[in-house]
Amino acid sequence: MMKLTNSITKTLFQKIKNISNSSKPPFSSSSLYKSIPKEKVDCLVIGAGIVGIAIAKELSINHGREDLVVDSAPIFGTGTSSRNSEVIHAGIYYPPNTLKAAFCFRGKELLYKYCRDHEIPHKQIGKLIVATGLSEVPKLTVLMTRGIQNGVEGLRMMEGYKATTLEPELQCVKALWSPSSGIVDSHSLMPSLVDYDHTMDLGRS
Ligand SMILES: Cc1cc2nc3c(=O)[nH]c(=O)nc-3n(C[C@H](O)[C@H](O)[C@H](O)COP(=O)(O)OP(=O)(O)OC[C@H]3O[C@@H](n4cnc5c(N)ncnc54)[C@H](O)[C@@H]3O)c2cc1C
Repeated sequence: MMKLTNSITKTLFQKIKNISNSSKPPFSSSSLYKSIPKEKVDCLVIGAGIVGIAIAKELSINHGREDLVVDSAPIFGTGTSSRNSEVIHAGIYYPPNTLKAAFCFRGKELLYKYCRDHEIPHKQIGKLIVATGLSEVPKLTVLMTRGIQNGVEGLRMMEGYKATTLEPELQCVKALWSPSSGIVDSHSLMPSLVDYDHTMDLGRS
């Protein structure tokens, strides 16, 4: 189990670690638990994926909250957040007037800024969404309309031969060019959000 905290005392961690390492089953000895000092925090975040650690950092840095992040894994970011495609999405896919669409669009801008400010490897390389057959072309049109409604700028439909000038290995009849899409190195992004001075591995939970 891992805990990230901005001010919980190390004594607490050591006591809990002693319990985890104890040969006795922990539930047989309630006195051990009683000996643990009760800690109070403003916010408890469960799950140290990208969402949890980003929320914790925001609460701590910009809102002055004392927060504690716990995870069942021994280190942060072992779940989906370290196994995804690392695409910074433009905001094309979610239906207009939904929170997902609004967060994706705004989050993209904030993420690019954060990456620039903190020197996180990233690139706004753009993305081609392709129709490999004529039957898929209407789907591209839907995505383009949706993207425009969501405020995504620069979307452009292009013929397949034009798309191959951007990516020669591509075979498609049409493509939707999304210039504001990009990629980010999530393995640099996540550690940048973590306060290592207050990160403790507590062994098994
Ligand atoms: C194949 C794939 C590709 C993707 N590609 C992209 C992409 O290119 N771009 C993009 O923006 N998004 C992408 N996503 C989505 C993105 O990865 C997720 O939205 C994001 O990682 C979710 O982060 P999270 O912190 O909510 O969850 P997670 O990263 O899953 O973190 C959850 C944490 O909670 C912990 N946990 C769970 N249950 C408990 C419990 N009971 N007690 C304690 N801890 C617990 C887990 O150990 C884990 O560390 C992709 C997703 C998938 C599956």
